[in-house]
Amino acid sequence: MMQELYAGVDVGSTTTKAALVDDSGTLLADAVGKSGFDFAGAAEEVFAQVLKSAGVERQQVKRVVSTGYGRRNVAFADEMRTEIFCHAAGAYHYFPETLTIIDIGGQDNKIIRVNAAGERETFAMNRKCAAGTGAFIEEISYRLGLELSDLNGMAEKSEHEVSIGSFCTVFSCTEILGLLRRGAKPEDIVKGVFRSVVKRVVEMGAIVGKVVLTGGVVAHNPIIADMVAEMTESEVVTAPHPQTIGAYGAALAARNL
Ligand code: ADP
Repeated sequence: MMQELYAGVDVGSTTTKAALVDDSGTLLADAVGKSGFDFAGAAEEVFAQVLKSAGVERQQVKRVVSTGYGRRNVAFADEMRTEIFCHAAGAYHYFPETLTIIDIGGQDNKIIRVNAAGERETFAMNRKCAAGTGAFIEEISYRLGLELSDLNGMAEKSEHEVSIGSFCTVFSCTEILGLLRRGAKPEDIVKGVFRSVVKRVVEMGAIVGKVVLTGGVVAHNPIIADMVAEMTESEVVTAPHPQTIGAYGAALAARNL
């Protein structure tokens, strides 16, 4: 008999992710694509990608759960769950203990507290302002003419990190131009930009237990994990496959329906 599989699709404001799991909750495949302006199309695409990379047919997938900003756009989903639920479910699966999940996404960030039994206790979310999100980093890299994928390596070379005082993207860009004019090195500025993101996020809520980091920003900029550990004086881990952990949590929800 063919094995039954379950899928999760997480339509974020910047990227769309899919995850495919088997009956035991083991991740078989995951995929990330741009959300763009066609959420439904992006969802179809990442779903097709996970099927292809796991080498399975659509009929083998028993249930699909969608999550994220654009979860209502996934026509082939059987049910929906919030991204808070799915991030918590995904992170708790790997770390079944008291957790504070810090998710830094493209256009929002969130802090979710989960108790030792896996129940969500509190959460805080910022979706109003680019500060503390991937959009802030993207805007600054664009203004400085830097590749997004080079930023982590640059920050690692920083020896004299500069402090960026303003959180607002517009003011930060003006501040950075001034710093460059006074001779600050780009790598020191990039590290300061990461610091600003981390500062903004950790001030959103109290940390309890182990900190689990999720989201695209952390997936592509591992230096952020060291900065969070330094600034919160907590035990900090990056979730396995941090960018697709919400889709994974949705796939686990599909399995448990
Ligand atoms: P969403 O909020 O849509 O779920 P993600 O959690 O996928 O977003 O995070 C998107 C962010 O991840 C982007 O804003 C960017 O900062 C970062 N990112 C995504 N892809 C890359 C990449 N290839 N290199 C560096 N950073 C990336």
